[in-house]
Amino acid sequence: MSYVDEVYSMVVEKNPAQPEFHQAVKEVLESLRVVIEKNEEAYRKDALLERIVTPERQLLFRVPWVDDNGQVHVNNAFRVQFNSAIGPYKGGLRLHPSVNLGIIKFLGFEQIFKNSLTGLPIGGGKGGSDFDPKGKSDREVMAFCQSFMTELNKYIGADTDVPAGDIGTGAREIGYMFGQYKRIRGVYEGVLTGKGLSYGGSLARTEATGYGLLYLTEEMLKCNGKDIKGKTVVISGSGNVAIYACQKAQQLGAKVVTVSDSTGWVYDPEGIDVALLKEVKEVKRARLTEYAAARSSAEYHEGRGVWTIKCDIALPCATQNELLLDDAKALVANGCFAVAEGANMPTTMDATEYLQQNGVLFCPGKAANAGGVATSALEMSQNSERLSWTFEEVDSKLQNIMVNIFHNLDDAAKKYGMEGNYVAGANIAGFLKVAEAMTAQGIV
Ligand code: NDP
Repeated sequence: MSYVDEVYSMVVEKNPAQPEFHQAVKEVLESLRVVIEKNEEAYRKDALLERIVTPERQLLFRVPWVDDNGQVHVNNAFRVQFNSAIGPYKGGLRLHPSVNLGIIKFLGFEQIFKNSLTGLPIGGGKGGSDFDPKGKSDREVMAFCQSFMTELNKYIGADTDVPAGDIGTGAREIGYMFGQYKRIRGVYEGVLTGKGLSYGGSLARTEATGYGLLYLTEEMLKCNGKDIKGKTVVISGSGNVAIYACQKAQQLGAKVVTVSDSTGWVYDPEGIDVALLKEVKEVKRARLTEYAAARSSAEYHEGRGVWTIKCDIALPCATQNELLLDDAKALVANGCFAVAEGANMPTTMDATEYLQQNGVLFCPGKAANAGGVATSALEMSQNSERLSWTFEEVDSKLQNIMVNIFHNLDDAAKKYGMEGNYVAGANIAGFLKVAEAMTAQGIV
């Protein structure tokens, strides 16, 4: 059995009932096969792959909190410190009822390669809880966040592990967590990113993942002789990534015609009204039915269906495994020529393969959505030097980073004989830097 196959079997055996983690490992290892097989004995001797698929540390803890009626609840919480070869652990905190250890491990594993691709000194980590902030009062969310940080603070710090937002963790949650960290540890430091601007946040961090997705997509199109201007785009999700992807796509001259949430989706052939979408989602925290009710050109549909709309470009920006094989077939049949992932692993492996086999330009999330964590690293730099950069300064660094990421993965794909395979390119480019650092640091 080849080394790659051996390690994948070991991962499945040692991490039972974690299908998302298996999926993420399989996708990366398949891409790395050409690299590993060139130097298999050296990698095997150092157990390099076993070390990279095994987190350095996994923290599991309970979070008790009291609701507005005096009832006590207990949630499960996680922080997986996956790999610190190239810098302090860095990755978001997801608050969603679907969160379990396997989901956090898949996200933490992806984060290693994503963070490496940014070119910045950040290692991979991820965390979260099965707490659902939806429908909770501000006081309940604060109670949860304070209890969560009362335990988590023991394991994080500005130079060791710097969490950030993710699904369900926005500016409000980061604020409550930061306040509790400062209170317990008595230090004012950049221990979290995605902070508010009045207490150490970075301009353009809110916009960064969505904007970065579009900067990279624009570069990918340009390098393939295409232009984003005038194109029709479908987007899924209506959270942080989706909203700012929508905004930047429109600024670049494209028309975005869909958004979705976990209960339904909107088709707006006139183009999504971003100001209205922000009002509904960021201010009122309401459902998309409110968007459709306020806009005559918009249709609301229950369930899922974004990928059935005719488009040139598709940007999945909601969650993992939301673009399935049948969706990929519908996109290809409707003439879609580019897919870039705003969310983490939104496209299943068979759907990805179908898109690639049918000539669709496909950029995986670990490259396409890396603008968020890259700007978080810029927030860390600003905190360390106790300065704040202007929006334009951060945005222009973000643009450079995204363009560089695209060229790195494009070059890696070409070097290993897989031109145009940006999944392989991203995994290989991300892996090589981490592997080199791990080798240099010895068996740790
Ligand atoms: P938000 O919580 O702001 O938004 C998530 C959106 O996706 C909401 O519209 C939500 O709908 C929808 N959604 C969530 N879960 C599901 C589900 N199971 N089925 C259908 N729809 C769902 O999260 P973000 O925008 O921050 O994150 C979106 C994705 O991008 C995630 O995969 C995240 O890991 C990834 N990402 C985020 C980064 C960031 O900087 N924020 C950075 C890099 C990646 P509803 O409101 O109904 O739940």
